[in-house]
Amino acid sequence: MQGWALAINHQPRAGANCLGSKLSLWSARPVKRAIFSPIQVNAMTERPVPQKGILNIAPYVPGRSSAPGKKAAENIKLSANESPLGASPKAIEAVRAAAEKLEIYPEGSSRELRQALGEVHGIDPERIVVGAGSDEVLHLLAQTYIGDGDEAVMSQYGFMVYPIVTQAAGGTPVIAPETDYRADVDALLAAVTEKTRIVFLANPNNPTGTYLSADELDRLHAGLPSNVLLVIDSAYAEYVTAADYGVGISLVERADNVVMVRTFSKMGLAAARVGWLYGPEHLVDAVNRIRGPFNVSVLGQVAATAAVRDLAFTKALRAHNGQWRDWLTAKIASNRLRVLPSQGNFILVLFPETPGQTASDANAALLERGLVVREMGGYGISNGLRISIGSEDAMRAVADCLQTFMDEQ
Ligand SMILES: *Cc1c(COP(=O)(O)O)cnc(C)c1O
Repeated sequence: MQGWALAINHQPRAGANCLGSKLSLWSARPVKRAIFSPIQVNAMTERPVPQKGILNIAPYVPGRSSAPGKKAAENIKLSANESPLGASPKAIEAVRAAAEKLEIYPEGSSRELRQALGEVHGIDPERIVVGAGSDEVLHLLAQTYIGDGDEAVMSQYGFMVYPIVTQAAGGTPVIAPETDYRADVDALLAAVTEKTRIVFLANPNNPTGTYLSADELDRLHAGLPSNVLLVIDSAYAEYVTAADYGVGISLVERADNVVMVRTFSKMGLAAARVGWLYGPEHLVDAVNRIRGPFNVSVLGQVAATAAVRDLAFTKALRAHNGQWRDWLTAKIASNRLRVLPSQGNFILVLFPETPGQTASDANAALLERGLVVREMGGYGISNGLRISIGSEDAMRAVADCLQTFMDEQ
């Protein structure tokens, strides 16, 4: 059977309208009229077939948001590392105002947000790319640098989106073992081959909460060939209290093969879907060529622009998190349970294999009280539960529940 493909390029004639001159993305394409070309259709193919590798992807399974049999109001969601203090009031106000103008396209490059980020972080706005959540940014990086047969290195308990974006781009994820739930620089370097294009590292890491110091990050970078891109995902940077931590900005500034990725999701704007990267000029140029021309909504842009300037809110979130992360860690650790030291807005608790005391038993006890935390089977840590740092009431309820749970054994 033979089919015909019809491709029409809706290219306006130069000067035909004023959009044509503004949108370089479109006007840069050569002018083509309708083109008819014969394509071969395999008679045996009964339906469209996804690209090689796509069906090998294990779909991302988000944490549950409610306990079975509980009404919405009875649940306390501690499964997605969301802000317990809501969003910045200034961001909410900005979204309200923007809701009056939903008919207007966004400014495509998120210029005002990049300017605000540049001012607050002391970095060049021209070297920032904004995405619809850092998930989109990670996809863009993989699409830009990974192709068929290429490899991306990531650590054993690294963020689950990395293998997805790698496979979606046709590449193969290569997993480096961790040492006691912490990324291992030597293992990451040993996993690098001639096929490696990217090394993904969340720092601090989700779901373990552990981190590499700025010196260790430097050592990782120093050991990489210069054609391998180091992606430092600093999603939890705002929550880090360790003095020897480095967010990645200075490495990006010193090197041509390092990019830092950030998100607003863990700082009260998960619904708005805004993430960003800071990288070398050549990377920004390449990524911008495949970025959708209006990839971040107006609502996301205005919310994030207000939030990034609301330093008092960021400070309050950080202080709340530090206080209750320390408190909950100490409480749970006093119950013969291991809590990994966390630099994020969550903790990972490890349970014994003893029947009655397992993570799954503890999860059932927590769900019974409407406390919804993240099961870790999908990450290969079936003895763990990840608990987001929530309100004071939520933290007291979790501590109380786990104490009763362990005392009953
Ligand atoms: C939550 C998270 C992100 C992504 O968040 P978005 O909501 O897509 O911005 C990225 N990396 C890590 C490590 C995360 O935990």
